[in-house]
Amino acid sequence: MKIKIIDKNERKITFLLEETNPQFANALRRISRVEIPNLAVQTVDFSKNDSALYDEVISHRLALIPLVFNQKDFEPKETCKCEGKGCSLCEVVFAINKKGPGMVYSKDMKSSNPDVKPLYDNIPIVELGEDQSIKLEAMASLGIGRSHAKFNTAVSFYRFYPSVEMNGEIKNANECIRVCPKHALDIKGNKATITDACDLCQECVKTANPKKIKITGDNTRFIFTIESVSGLSAENILLSATKIFKEKAQEFEKEMKKLK
Ligand SMILES: [Zn+2]
Repeated sequence: MKIKIIDKNERKITFLLEETNPQFANALRRISRVEIPNLAVQTVDFSKNDSALYDEVISHRLALIPLVFNQKDFEPKETCKCEGKGCSLCEVVFAINKKGPGMVYSKDMKSSNPDVKPLYDNIPIVELGEDQSIKLEAMASLGIGRSHAKFNTAVSFYRFYPSVEMNGEIKNANECIRVCPKHALDIKGNKATITDACDLCQECVKTANPKKIKITGDNTRFIFTIESVSGLSAENILLSATKIFKEKAQEFEKEMKKLK
């Protein structure tokens, strides 16, 4: 298996994955989305809410705010030594206490842990009118996207690497090049080349006259993208997914050995 980074920043990573198969790529995709423990608001205690939004709506909005945290510092509540009661190892409390008029933003969430905060400061939560105020405490803990979408860590997807074959000359080669929405195709005489921007849309194949062009996806090479929707960096998500994948395989191996 080979990996080559195509593009990378804090929030998004795109890489070429080679010498593997769709089953492996798909497992990695699913794990990177919904199996990595992530922090999100689970319960909210309201002392006061004069705003136009119901408590439930505000709770829902708070739960969707991505939180920056250090993975090593947190335990899932179920396995924490506090036995699920809630402690600083498994829980973070955000307090909001604000008087209107004005918008309550994510930056108004005062964290009980200085290392945990909303990813962005300017996410609007609720607008307060004249003489309205809000006071609440929101408890965040770890969970995974498989149990609730608010814990999803990333949007991950892959494309099959394109390959092109030509069998003889095409009369309207220039037209085929022009219709490609990704500008990925080039044809010179009997030879076609394609870049990895191709998403196998087949527009060139439909246009070719006569039909002497074939575009297929290589099912051993994938252009893989992971875009973070959480407080974790894209690279961190990829590394965590790999670690979880390995743990699952080891667990499977352990169970298999018991069957002997
Ligand atoms: Zn605990």
